Amino acid sequence: MSITLARVELFHIAMPLLTPFETSFGVTTERRTVLVKAITRDGIVGWGEWAGDGPGYSYETEHTAWHILKDYVIPLAFRAPFEDPREATQRFRFVRGHHIAKAALEAALWDIAAQQAGMSLAAYLSSCTGHPVRSRVPVGVSIGLQPTPEALVERVAGFLAQGYQRIKIKIKPGRDVADAVAVRRAFPRVPLMVDANSAYTLADAAIFKQMDELELLMIEQPLGYDDIFDHSRLQPQLKTPICLDESIHSPDHARAAIALGACRIINIKQGRSGGLAHALAIHDLCAAASVPVWCGGMLESGIGRALNVAMAALPNFTLPGDLSASNRYYAEDLIDPPFTLEPDGTLRVPQQPGLGVCVVEQRVRRATLRHLAIEAGAV
Ligand code: MG
Repeated sequence: MSITLARVELFHIAMPLLTPFETSFGVTTERRTVLVKAITRDGIVGWGEWAGDGPGYSYETEHTAWHILKDYVIPLAFRAPFEDPREATQRFRFVRGHHIAKAALEAALWDIAAQQAGMSLAAYLSSCTGHPVRSRVPVGVSIGLQPTPEALVERVAGFLAQGYQRIKIKIKPGRDVADAVAVRRAFPRVPLMVDANSAYTLADAAIFKQMDELELLMIEQPLGYDDIFDHSRLQPQLKTPICLDESIHSPDHARAAIALGACRIINIKQGRSGGLAHALAIHDLCAAASVPVWCGGMLESGIGRALNVAMAALPNFTLPGDLSASNRYYAEDLIDPPFTLEPDGTLRVPQQPGLGVCVVEQRVRRATLRHLAIEAGAV
């Protein structure tokens, strides 16, 4: 069945976070993003969420996303029907970069295609790829920098009590080894990892060698945000696997990183990768190279989270993802019911058609700073 879009709406929204989130690039107190609502000629509604952050994370911001979607991606989407959401990659290729913006509209197409097929997105991905999918996915929690190592240990204890299966702590220069040692001492057997968000250089190798003694699951993105080569110099010096996150923008980047030995694990973010089709390709080439993957998070609302959970149901997502429950970040999610953590530290993969979650438009409108509706034929 083909997808003919009749209207696309953009919502620039702001959602207050329950607690501020600090990483090596700054403190976030509210999440600002752009939601895409795409409506087909026969009335099917699909949703997508721009999974980015501020310019400290990527050149893409909520404002560039608005511009690129409004002026380029949406007009391209109206140009002809889509026979398959995987055509979006090629259709939007004219726009170089701006992966997260393109992925937001592509996400809505996947939601629509799965609804047309009468399948949950996870089941639809299974039918597209031939892979089996799980009905629950293991989740970990990502914890921002805390004022002291003691405060961090306390926060970790709280999340473990909630049932999270894996703890990730953010680090930055001056707040690294001592924090990791404190958590490891307090919880000797907990699956633990650190995320540097590109805050170090190869000259800091000694810091990571100290962490090698802590039996971490992985060290995420220690070096430059667009680097692969220096990571390939660091990885052989460490027992601990390096996981690349920010550096992987496409299947080609993943292929290069694996061939160079720059990492042993990849964090797949479908937005940063240029959409779900690219993410599926990265999943498959990692599986072929015995490189496990996991699903990263961008503090998504339930809309982006539903897409992530469906993707993480694929078989090479063998490590717990940053797929926390709705109440990890938000007092009130945009979807109903919210994602909740199961007692065994998993999230249920939605089983209803499409994203499989109900978007509460009243809440979307309450969070909206700016709204735009573009009709096919108007561009
Ligand atoms: Mg990361």
